[in-house]
Amino acid sequence: MVELTAALLCELGLNQASARLEAAIEAAMAKEESYLEFLSGLLAHETDARRQRSYDTRLKMAALPHHKGLGDFDFDFAKGVDKKTVTELSHLGFVSSATNICFLGPPGVGKTHLAVALCLEAIAGGHSVYFTTMAKMAADLSGVPTPAKVRKYLGPKVLVIDEIGYRPLDGRAGSTFFEVVSERYETGSIICSSNKSFTEWGSLLGDAVLATAILDRLLHHCVVVNIRGESYRLKDRKRQGIAAHPEVADAIEKGVVYTPGN
Ligand code: ADP
Ligand code: MG
Repeated sequence: MVELTAALLCELGLNQASARLEAAIEAAMAKEESYLEFLSGLLAHETDARRQRSYDTRLKMAALPHHKGLGDFDFDFAKGVDKKTVTELSHLGFVSSATNICFLGPPGVGKTHLAVALCLEAIAGGHSVYFTTMAKMAADLSGVPTPAKVRKYLGPKVLVIDEIGYRPLDGRAGSTFFEVVSERYETGSIICSSNKSFTEWGSLLGDAVLATAILDRLLHHCVVVNIRGESYRLKDRKRQGIAAHPEVADAIEKGVVYTPGN
């Protein structure tokens, strides 16, 4: 009878409940559970497992570079980051209103960390997320875009475009960026991060008109977080003694490649 019931549960697609059936019956007998308690316990097991699986899938699809959350972020260290604003964002109103978020600031101040932390909240809240960098997205969409590729950038409720500004964007990359921002306008959030101020985006793209068109759409519904202060990475390295090499520390701070002099 147990085997038949387990097979029927499987046929209905309730695989987790099926696998747990025998143990659940034993536990119910030991605890003298009512029929209702037994049934709801078994169904809860199935739904919990499904929720977990769907969370795991969303987390994997998001391709996050790490999983540091808001709990790991030191708001006292970061200058210009209003904890209240970030906490409000973590309640995910920005996802349903398709509001964008821009983190601006020099290297190492926590732009990627905050973007990832908000992604983790969005994933836990049941939303689809995709994390990429400007350079990766531009390379990926440089050829003839296939529908699958386009879906990758337009499908998720939240798209992170990290590291805008570390490299100049050629005409092709600029128009790709424009297409993505335009297509997502008022339909899906973009979280972006840049080490360049918006006034520098014209020279970054080598096209002031295109930069204006992108910023016009990006900033219409947008929360801008300007982070100042020194690099968190540098803080740790200073402690480890790199401060003894100010030219290296300076290069890290400026986000440029250190080239040893003579
Ligand atoms: P950015 O994207 O601005 O260059 P990151 O977010 O990559 O900087 O931060 C660099 C490193 O320092 C990461 O390991 C990040 O977790 C850490 N970090 C930066 N700011 C903070 C902060 N305020 N509290 C805790 N960790 C931080
Ligand atoms: Mg970063």
